[in-house]
Amino acid sequence: MKTLEEELKEIKKNGLWRQLRVVDPFHDVINFCSNNYLGLTNDPRVIEGAIAATQKYGAGSGAARLISGNFDLCEELELGLAKFKGTETALLFNSGYHANIGAIPALAGEGDVIFSDELNHASLIDGCRLSRAEKIVYRHHDLNHLEELLKIPLPLRERVAGGRVRGSRFIITEAIFSMEGDVCPLADLLKLAEKYDAIVYLDEAHAVGVLGEKGQGLAPLNPPENLICMGTLGKAFGSYGAFVAGSKTLKDYLINKARSFIFTTALPPATVGASLAALKIVREEPERREQLWKNIKMVGGHSPIFSIPIGDAKRTMEISQKLLEEGIFLCRAFAHRQCRKGHRVYD
Ligand SMILES: *Cc1c(COP(=O)(O)O)cnc(C)c1O
Repeated sequence: MKTLEEELKEIKKNGLWRQLRVVDPFHDVINFCSNNYLGLTNDPRVIEGAIAATQKYGAGSGAARLISGNFDLCEELELGLAKFKGTETALLFNSGYHANIGAIPALAGEGDVIFSDELNHASLIDGCRLSRAEKIVYRHHDLNHLEELLKIPLPLRERVAGGRVRGSRFIITEAIFSMEGDVCPLADLLKLAEKYDAIVYLDEAHAVGVLGEKGQGLAPLNPPENLICMGTLGKAFGSYGAFVAGSKTLKDYLINKARSFIFTTALPPATVGASLAALKIVREEPERREQLWKNIKMVGGHSPIFSIPIGDAKRTMEISQKLLEEGIFLCRAFAHRQCRKGHRVYD
């Protein structure tokens, strides 16, 4: 057993030391690592949304949604998000992390199989772990590999109580990958999912407000039945929180089963008020999205995320430090790949 100090030393030695940095968002550096893609965190209308909600409802919600924390603001935001996504309903979660570690274990369980893209976000990986479903990792965006794996017969496929099928298949992927910035081939993935009777869980953390004709994300408006969409409000929406969009049955199910929804204090009114104001702007001001895409195209990208592979963790740290001294603040993603160690990849 190593002591905490020994482990920390090892982290430092391997060049993987993480350290908090105090950031002044308005001065000194050009910030390339924020997900505030539409500039909404500082929009006066979004700030006013937060202030007005605070003045009306208070600084905190005081309890979980299922107890006494469910203000009409939450319901209003859910209605708006459902409209935005073209789904029957939506359910708010306190963050994208909460959504993924709550919804995935609620839906998938022992006897089910999850097919997970090898570059999926840590919150998706943790959701899979908590679910106790079998996890099979497929190569990033490699649908041929995924199909090979989907062909493996499921040992446990059987009907259990209530007409549910044990041995259900789930495919979990991000829409825009949070480190690589590439976009999931969703249409082909959905075809494959249909062929093998699988449900797709799509994490649109970086896609809502950015992709789609109406900014709704990568999923089409009125997404098909085998597609569950999760999005966040802390990125392009400039606020905080997350949601899962889908049918009324899905919402009722998550309200009753998703532990990270049930056992946590509801979002503070300020956050919900800010998100409501942000949603209105995202829907009514497509020119923000158009400007973002102009900027993306100018540098030849496919999404607002660009990766510059360097390879070596220490070197990455040195380069990012040098750039910071020059006033360029970039995101260092070395540790992201590390957390994927221990994945079982089937070749
Ligand atoms: C940021 C992110 C999350 C987590 O969302 P939070 O609201 O910040 O907790 C989940 N999934 C992906 C792909 C992300 O990029």
